[in-house]
Amino acid sequence: MTDLPITDDPLFWTATLDRTWRGRARCAGMDTDLFFADRGNEAKIQNAEAKAICKECQVRFECLEDALNEPQPWFGVRGGLTAKERRRIKWRPRIR
Ligand code: SF4
Repeated sequence: MTDLPITDDPLFWTATLDRTWRGRARCAGMDTDLFFADRGNEAKIQNAEAKAICKECQVRFECLEDALNEPQPWFGVRGGLTAKERRRIKWRPRIR
C-alpha cells in the first residue's frame, strides 16, 4: 500500500486522485477565471499569464486536442492557445 501524506490540501488530492490527463494538468485546482479573460487590454495580459502556465504544462497537447474537438462556441485559453487562435488552426485549409 502506498503511503499518502496526511493533508487536506485540495490541490494535492485533485492531482493524486485524478489519473486522467486532466489530473496532471498544471492548471488543476487553479482559479479558472485566469483562463477566461474578458475583452480589452487587460485580457491580453491575462491571456499571456494563462499561456505561460500552459507552456509549462505536461498535458498541453492532450488539452489542445480536446479543446479542438469540442463543439463551438469556444472560450478561454486551452492548450496554450486562445479561442481565436484555435479557430485559426481548426478551420485552416489543408494542403494535399
Ligand atoms: S494546457 Fe493549459 S489549460 Fe490545458 S491543462 Fe495545461 S495548463 Fe490547463
